[in-house]
Amino acid sequence: MDLNIPYLRDEDKSLVMLMKEFCEREVDRQALNDLADTPIPPNATKKDLMARMPWDLISKAHDAELRQLTVPEEYGGGGFGENWLALTALAEAAGYYGGQVARIFTIAWKHIGSLIYAPKAIQYEVFTDFMNDRRTMCAASITEPNHGSDYLLPFNDPSTGKYFAEKDGDEWVLNGEKMFCTAGGVSNYIIVSCRTDKDAPITKAVTTFVVPTKTPGWSIARVNDMMGNEITANVQMRFENVRVPDRLRTSPVNGGFEIMKSRLAGKTIHLMAALGETEKVLEDMIDYCKARIQGGKPIIQHSNVGVLLAEGDALLKAARLMIYQDAWESMGKGELLDPKGWWYVNWFTKKVILRMVEIGFEIYGGMAPQKELPFERWARMHLSIWHGGSTGTLNMIKASKVL
Ligand SMILES: Cc1cc2nc3c(=O)[nH]c(=O)nc-3n(C[C@H](O)[C@H](O)[C@H](O)COP(=O)(O)OP(=O)(O)OC[C@H]3O[C@@H](n4cnc5c(N)ncnc54)[C@H](O)[C@@H]3O)c2cc1C
Repeated sequence: MDLNIPYLRDEDKSLVMLMKEFCEREVDRQALNDLADTPIPPNATKKDLMARMPWDLISKAHDAELRQLTVPEEYGGGGFGENWLALTALAEAAGYYGGQVARIFTIAWKHIGSLIYAPKAIQYEVFTDFMNDRRTMCAASITEPNHGSDYLLPFNDPSTGKYFAEKDGDEWVLNGEKMFCTAGGVSNYIIVSCRTDKDAPITKAVTTFVVPTKTPGWSIARVNDMMGNEITANVQMRFENVRVPDRLRTSPVNGGFEIMKSRLAGKTIHLMAALGETEKVLEDMIDYCKARIQGGKPIIQHSNVGVLLAEGDALLKAARLMIYQDAWESMGKGELLDPKGWWYVNWFTKKVILRMVEIGFEIYGGMAPQKELPFERWARMHLSIWHGGSTGTLNMIKASKVL
């Protein structure tokens, strides 16, 4: 991983080295890939999903003080909640040196980190649990079976969002289904967005809550078996009369939309992790092209191949700079981040990764789909997480509305 980039401060470079040492010492990339590729039946239980998790590795990440980086210092964490440059550098390093272990880090950093803006009672409950129990995980759920990309669009269609919460005394009663929740089946807490006004446009009708998954009425409705599964899996969840105390509400009533939209900006660390892994994939491609002889010379010397490698390198450099720029602009800005940078990053990084898949298929020829090369698993995984934070094109629609 190239540390010669102006955005990186000395402390970020030291953190990158810490992540590098951790991954080289503790992470077996192949073992993690094999674990993720173990088939998941749609009716897998929470117990089944928990059994897939590399808890020993996660515990070691806690010992290295990496897992808890976004927990505030007063709870024993690293206090990195708004330190986007450090988190971005660490995400890139985790992807580059550790492959998909990066997702385990970025899921924890993002979701736990978003609670630094929640009321103190929630912080106390969740952060204390997260620090005391190394199996504590947190997920976020917006998407519904019939509402996905449109949920955060500025079209404000009153029919968007069916999942509903109704006030009953000091509690809220949650009913409905939520879709595609990454790590939802292995999490103790789900940050969930609910419609709390049945008739208003979605921007004025959403409230967010932290729902402990031990609450009666919460269940996994279906496990989504995808072409490039993650270890944490991805689930559809059912909420049947789930009673949540008002103290677990994280936004003003019907005021969750703006906060939710801005916190999605934190998703740049997921994309940076993907980019870090992609940088390693490009290095593998270059090595392959130096070793593979066709037409009497290493294929890197054929101009059509060399040009593809140079294009990949240029695209990765551009995407990397764009993400660091966004991180730099978001540093210490407080709760409401400008999501425009994130929307651009989402669109552009997806374009770059898709082009890298195409480049890999061109360069590796018949070897491209062979499972013996890391490229095959990387391509499947990154096509699977394509829709994270909605499609690239829809992110550009959102950006166009605020230009
Ligand atoms: C691996 C994975 C992990 C995920 N993790 C999470 C998670 O942790 N939490 C979570 O909440 N969600 C998660 N998602 C869901 C993801 O955010 C959605 O899949 C994404 O927003 C797309 O929504 P959809 O699947 O309903 O597609 P749709 O909204 O049905 O989109 C289908 C197509 O229609 C287009 N389209 C849809 N609506 C409009 C419109 N109004 N105007 C113009 N075009 C439109 C879209 O651009 C797209 O091309 C995950 C998805 C995947 C695949």
